[in-house]
Amino acid sequence: MASVLCQNGCGRDCGKGADGRVFPTCCKSCAYLKKERGLCGHDIDCDIRANEAVCPPWYWKSAAVWPEPFHEEVGGEYVKEMGTKILQRRLPDWKVVRCERIEDAVLWDKYTAKRAQLRERSVAKANIQPETAESIQYSANTTLDHRVNEVWLLHGTSEEAAKAISHSNFLPSSGGCFGSGIYFADDARKSNQYASRTAEDQKIMLLCRVALGGVKVLPEGQDRSADRFAADPSIDSILGTTDAKEFVVYDSAQIYPEYIMYYQEIGTA
Ligand SMILES: [Zn+2]
Ligand SMILES: [Zn+2]
Repeated sequence: MASVLCQNGCGRDCGKGADGRVFPTCCKSCAYLKKERGLCGHDIDCDIRANEAVCPPWYWKSAAVWPEPFHEEVGGEYVKEMGTKILQRRLPDWKVVRCERIEDAVLWDKYTAKRAQLRERSVAKANIQPETAESIQYSANTTLDHRVNEVWLLHGTSEEAAKAISHSNFLPSSGGCFGSGIYFADDARKSNQYASRTAEDQKIMLLCRVALGGVKVLPEGQDRSADRFAADPSIDSILGTTDAKEFVVYDSAQIYPEYIMYYQEIGTA
C-alpha cells in the first residue's frame, strides 16, 4: 500500500496510531509548528522513523543543507535569551553576553551514532527531570530522545575547550567528587564552580545534549571512586548529589556541546 504524505508538505509519511489509524501529519511537532510559525519541524520519534534521527534537529540552520556536511555558529537574540533564562535561574547576578549554537556535522555524527547505539541496547528509563528543561521551549524539548535519557545539561569549561568545539573537537574537563569522568549539572551555580575566567573576565558554560543512557543513581554524598561503575556495560552515567545534582559520563560521544555561553557578573565592565 502506498504511504500517505504529511499534509504540511514536509515530505515525510503520515504518522500512524497504534490502532493503524493514519494521522493527517507526520508528527505533532510538524502540525504545531506549521500552525504557529508556518514551518515544518519534527519530534524525535518522527526523526527516528525518517532517518534513525541522524538529521540535525529541525531548528538548526543546518537542517536545510543536511545531508551535506555543515558547520555553523549561530548567535542572535533568541539563543542569548534562552541562555540567560537558564543561567539566571541560579545565578541572578550574572548575565549572558554572548551565546552561540554550534552546528557541527563531525560532532553531530559522532553523537547520533552513539545515541542510536544506546537506543538499540534499550536502556532503562531513568526518572530525571533536570531543571534546564523548564527554560527550553516545548518544541525543542520534544527533540530529546527520552529512550536513552537524553537531557540538556550545563558544563562549566575553559576558553580552550570552547575554541576546540569550533574546530569539530571537544575537550571535556574531568574529575571531581565522583572520580574521573565528564561532569554536568542542571544548576548553573554548580557548573560555575568548574568554569574558568577568560582574559576578558568572562566565564564559559556549555549547554550540552547529553545521552545519559543507563543511569546509576548514587546515594547522597560524594564517592571518589564512582568511576568503578564505568566497567558495568549497563551503566553509561552516574547521577550523584553533593550540594547539587552532578551527572557524570565517561564517553565524550555521549555529549553534544550545543550552545556556548559567555557570561559575566552584572556590574563589571
Ligand atoms: Zn510533516
Ligand atoms: Zn514530523
